[in-house]
Amino acid sequence: MVQYSQFTHEQLRALKDELEKKYEKFKAEKLSLDMSRGKPAPAQLDLSLGLLDILNSSETLKVEENIDVRNYGVIDGIQEAKKLFADLLHVDPKQVIVGGNSSLTMMHDTITRALLHGVVDSIEPWHKLEKVKFLCPSPGYDRHFAICESLNIEMITIDMLSDGPNMNQVEELVSKDPSIKGIWCVPKYSNPEGTTYSDEVVDRLANMKTKAPDFKIFWDDAYTIHHLTDEHAQLKDILETCQKAGNPNRVFIFASTSKITFPGSGVAVMAASEDNIQFVKQQLAFQSIGPDKLNQLRHVRYFQTIDGIHHHMKRHAELIKPKFDLVLQILQTNLATLDIATWSKPKGGYFISLNTMDGCAKNVVQLAKEAGVTLTNAGATFPYGKDPNDRNIRIAPTYPTLSELETAMDVLCVCIQIASINKLLQSSK
Ligand code: PMP
Repeated sequence: MVQYSQFTHEQLRALKDELEKKYEKFKAEKLSLDMSRGKPAPAQLDLSLGLLDILNSSETLKVEENIDVRNYGVIDGIQEAKKLFADLLHVDPKQVIVGGNSSLTMMHDTITRALLHGVVDSIEPWHKLEKVKFLCPSPGYDRHFAICESLNIEMITIDMLSDGPNMNQVEELVSKDPSIKGIWCVPKYSNPEGTTYSDEVVDRLANMKTKAPDFKIFWDDAYTIHHLTDEHAQLKDILETCQKAGNPNRVFIFASTSKITFPGSGVAVMAASEDNIQFVKQQLAFQSIGPDKLNQLRHVRYFQTIDGIHHHMKRHAELIKPKFDLVLQILQTNLATLDIATWSKPKGGYFISLNTMDGCAKNVVQLAKEAGVTLTNAGATFPYGKDPNDRNIRIAPTYPTLSELETAMDVLCVCIQIASINKLLQSSK
């Protein structure tokens, strides 16, 4: 095959006719396939079924410090869970709060509390400022951006490079503007590109001078152990790096077992300096009398140690790696030589990020939708849902079966080709 840009007008038109016939055939099949959200497949959920049987009425339900997990209390989580998650995040149990079922809720509530009351280094609550702004490395996680939008926090798009956010942009902005209070980071196997931040990026984030004394890094380490291969990405320890940089309170780390056990019924965790943790604990005491300790105990008894979680994640990888491979192989076979799209080849996480030619992503997503294949909305990976180049598409391969995925990807490739030809025909007019 030849690059589309080398084709004459007539060749493009002929090719378009051919592709549209294929497209109409797909449409006639009345497909209903979904590659929009990063959900584990049923077989992955089955891996954790034992979690439902691990606690029963004959088990001892007392844990360390003589806590009865059936009752109220322990705002920051049971010791055993703190130890397990401290090992997961390479921090000390004293730097951990084990919470409820969702890390996104923890992130949302952390920002809401900062707006209402400030954070540990604040002079005043953030809401007193005329404007609060967050830096948003993009493409990024749509629900992070949705939190900012709902709380009227202005978002500033930062380019994602191959080793993390463009730190020249970040440093320049935070050094001048005191209303920039935070940055969203998915530092390992990022959503959607699968990028892991380099040591240099971690160092610069921890060391940079910020005009706001209470600037915070929201370090959403959602995919910290979601490896797809045996080649595990290494992420430099942000908490320790911030400490060494003299900015010990700069970072809030978040994670959860949503994509380890059951999304919606997992356990969420945050980690930070002890000062941050103490401050947050005091505030949490107004929000709740304590988290779901039974679920925390279930997770502890099921996995026992961090090695138990690692072993479990290998089994997840065995189930989903073939799906990632299939998507990559179909993209390679159908698009590689045409010069109309590029895509990430992640070593972990939940997504493949695809870039079409500029100005084509919306058209591709619409065409796919009309042929029965749902993708994440074009633009969703950018603040305010607006991709400045209209080119990024997030592919979530985990939920569909292999055969569904194959059909969905065949449809997607045809849609990308049609949209690209439309664009080329338009621009050569
Ligand atoms: N952070 C990221 C980067 C995610 O991709 C997701 C899930 N898609 C979440 C957080 C949600 O986590 P939780 O289920 O713990 O709220």
